[in-house]
Amino acid sequence: MDDCIFCKIGAGEIPAATLYEDDHTLAFLDIAPAVKGHALVIPKVHCESLHDADPATLQHCLVTAQKVAAALRAWGADGVNLLQNNGAAAGQAVFHLHFHIFPRYEGDGRAWGWKGTPYPAGEMARVQRDIAAHLA
Ligand code: 5GP
Ligand code: ZN
Repeated sequence: MDDCIFCKIGAGEIPAATLYEDDHTLAFLDIAPAVKGHALVIPKVHCESLHDADPATLQHCLVTAQKVAAALRAWGADGVNLLQNNGAAAGQAVFHLHFHIFPRYEGDGRAWGWKGTPYPAGEMARVQRDIAAHLA
């Protein structure tokens, strides 16, 4: 993809603070980190998101994410969050598949979480049926 910033980074045409590289993936520091050490993992092959990625590409990315997560823990993180946005509605700004990896620390006060609300009576079974129908 000629106009894709992450394709250019993956090909070494634009510099990045690279953490790890192999034949299929690149891990580098996010240019505008949510936290110090916020890393990104991308495939070198272009795909837009989870929806059009082939299984081998996803596998390569997750194996690299596992390596980066281990490095962040060795660097001092107590825990690690993995985040992956698909589509503008989900907050995706760069339309080349990427995985965010955030180091987390005991008591760091950050919250990527949510306050869970139970389903009203009967709703969970309807949602289960309707979504599962698309997986059949
Ligand atoms: P998204 O919102 O698409 O999931 O996240 C895109 C991420 O890419 C953002 O966190 C943003 O800071 C990062 N980013 C965008 N352009 C560049 C760049 O040129 N270099 C690096 N290292 N990160 C970038
Ligand atoms: Zn791309």
